[in-house]
Amino acid sequence: MVSFIVPCYNEQDNVRAFYDAFVLAFEDDSKLDWHLFMVDDGSSDQTLARLSDIARNDKRVTVISFSRNFGKEAAIYAGLNESRGSDIVGIIDADLQQPPETARQMLQILLENDDYDCVAAYQESRNEGFLMGVMKRSFYKVFSRAARSNQVVENASDFRIFRASVANAILSMPEYHRFSKGIFSWVGFNTYAFPYTPSERNAGSTKWSFKSLVNYAVEGILSFSTRPLHFVTVMGMVASTIALLYALILIVKTLIVGIDVPGYASNTALILIFGGLQLLSIGIIGEYLARLYEQEKGRPVYIVGRRINGIEEASHDE
Ligand code: UDP
Ligand code: MG
Repeated sequence: MVSFIVPCYNEQDNVRAFYDAFVLAFEDDSKLDWHLFMVDDGSSDQTLARLSDIARNDKRVTVISFSRNFGKEAAIYAGLNESRGSDIVGIIDADLQQPPETARQMLQILLENDDYDCVAAYQESRNEGFLMGVMKRSFYKVFSRAARSNQVVENASDFRIFRASVANAILSMPEYHRFSKGIFSWVGFNTYAFPYTPSERNAGSTKWSFKSLVNYAVEGILSFSTRPLHFVTVMGMVASTIALLYALILIVKTLIVGIDVPGYASNTALILIFGGLQLLSIGIIGEYLARLYEQEKGRPVYIVGRRINGIEEASHDE
């Protein structure tokens, strides 16, 4: 069975169009046994109602509805959990930016090539501003350095199709702070990079603001690398070496020429610089501590409020 995970957050005007396009793309004569896991990520609009309509008429659609908004990463994780047992799993957005026909082509590659375990779509050209492009490229550079992974296909989205082996590997990673781009590159596997150009959003608007993108980038690096801690150590070593040399110079100078009282400016500058460096270091350590704390609490990544056509629900009426 081929399962597709579709994270939906406030996509009321897209879910029906997505479903129709998906059915159109996958109802070819290959008698493909497919299933959709549409995850309503705590939407505040009519998304759940529209998804329910779809699921009522098509048992191949399972709707998992979160008790609140947990984020796309959580939705993907939920979908992976629910689709256990599928031979092939795919992830696709609900806004039709990632065309179902493209997903069909990607699936074909996987079906025809035993050597590949994963087909990842990457954006050949980006229709976004220059500044955003530069920032994204720098992020990928920093990230693959920091995570010591050269497997991150640049511009790879989480628009992917993969075998059960990959899905199981991802499910075996119990981290609370989930960062799909990193997780996919970390688990490895033979990945086919499939170029595509994202379409315009069907309806509604993107959930990403500039601030959330920056947070996402920081999150990615912190949850995949301890290099920032290493950076703190190096910074500390460099600073204390300089400080030691300066102290020696001061001692020698005092012994030879005597005590030179003025020094207000240099003193203040040093206090400010080192105070700043210390706060920065504590902050970086704190970021890791916070993640440790959240992981240690062991809270679930998501909470399901309702399920339609799901396993648990099989004996109930919806
Ligand atoms: N999404 C989600 N939870 C969120 C934010 C987004 O499930 O908290 C879903 C959203 O409904 C869409 C996909 O993730 O199907 C991608 O979101 P979006 O289109 O906003 O991102 P973009 O395509 O602009 O990167
Ligand atoms: Mg989108």
